[in-house]
This record gives sequence, C-alpha cells and structure tokens, in this order.
Amino acid sequence: MTSARTRDRLVRRLIEQGIRSEAVLEQIRNVPRHLFVDEALASRAYEDTALPIGHGQTISQPFVVARMTEALLDGFSGEKVLEIGTGCGYQTAVLAPLVKRIYSVERISELLRKTRQRLRDLNIYNVQFRPGDGWQGWSKYAPYDGIIVAAAASRLPEKLLDQLAPGGRLIMPVGPTGRQELTLVTRRDDHFEQQSLGAVSFVPLVPGI
Ligand code: SAH
Repeated sequence: MTSARTRDRLVRRLIEQGIRSEAVLEQIRNVPRHLFVDEALASRAYEDTALPIGHGQTISQPFVVARMTEALLDGFSGEKVLEIGTGCGYQTAVLAPLVKRIYSVERISELLRKTRQRLRDLNIYNVQFRPGDGWQGWSKYAPYDGIIVAAAASRLPEKLLDQLAPGGRLIMPVGPTGRQELTLVTRRDDHFEQQSLGAVSFVPLVPGI
C-alpha cells in the first residue's frame, strides 16, 4: 500500500497532469506521505487526494503541493521561504530539501507540536516553526524570497506582500469557497505582478489567532 510501486503510480499521475520539475517529482516519490496521516488512512496516502488530519484540517492533495512547489521554485534564486499553514508538514517536507531555509507559521499549536516531531524523525532540520496568525506573516526574518500559503483568503494579505523580497514569489489560493484561484504574485521593483494558475479548493485562512 505504501510501496515503491504505489508511489510511482502517483508520480506518473502527476506527470500526466503536467508536473514537469524532476526535483519536485523526486520529492513526491521520496517523502513518505503515509507518515503524515492517521494510520487508519495510511492505505490512501498515495492517492492524489486531500485527507483529514484532525482539527477540521486536511493534508493537501499531492498534485496541488507539487504545483505550488514547482511554481515557487521556477526561476527562484533565493534562500528563505515563509510558509503559512504548516498543518501536518507534508508541503514543508516536500519543499525543505529544495531550499536553504523555511519559516513556517501555523495557528493550531497542537498540530504544530506533532509536525515538529514528525519532521525531526525524517531528519529535516532547516525549518523553523512558530504558532501564530499567518495574516501577520513573520516579520522577524523578512524579507522572504518565496512565500507559500496553504489556506485560502478572499484577498492577498498585505503583511505578506510587505514581507516579500524584490523579485520574490508568493503562491496562494485567493477567492471565496468554491471559486478559489491558485495565484502567483511576483514582486517587481515598483509593482506586484499577478498570475492565475488555475482553480483549487483549500480550507480558509482563518482571521486572527
Ligand atoms: N500544508 C499542509 C496543509 C495544511 S491545511 C499540508 O502540506 O498538507 C491549512 C493549514 O492552515 C491548517 O493547518 C490550518 O490550521 C492553517 N491555518 C488556517 N488559517 C491560518 C492562519 N490564519 N494562520 C496560520 N495558519 C492557519
């Protein structure tokens, strides 16, 4: 159920759906997604679907994680990435070996506690976590070369735009439930460039902590 064959099947599916980055596909093959969900759901971990992780939250669909990671890294030359919505840490684990450092913010402390341990068990050490409100970003380590947000908002959070470095890329789902668009924002010298990467479905970026 969690065999190399099952994982290869998932990777083939992502290729069919248009994921091209070898580095990202390799990460999807390598990261043991069954360790990020409850044991009862482990047999479904390599299906291309979101699954519950408790607290009313979900582990993102592999295709969406691959798409966001690929979009973030396309032309990426920086070091620091801010992640909002750590959840179970699957997106974090896929991205971690591909960048120098990740700063990750999650509002549910209980989830974060388990995720910290899980990533340590997987020998991932270049991630710093913080319980907090993602709308505020994490100003201490700003500016970030990339920002990746795993929850949807009706508008782009101003603090996150402020914390994006020149040339930096922000990826997040924007729009009301049922009409969210995965959005790529690139910070240019004097403006923000915005591009849609297609329809998606995410849990909401909850206002406040
Ligand atoms: N990145 C995860 C998906 C997490 S689901 C994965 O790889 O599977 C989205 C997460 O965003 C949830 O854990 C939720 O608690 C968190 N979240 C929602 N609103 C938030 C906010 N305002 N600040 C920080 N985290 C938030």
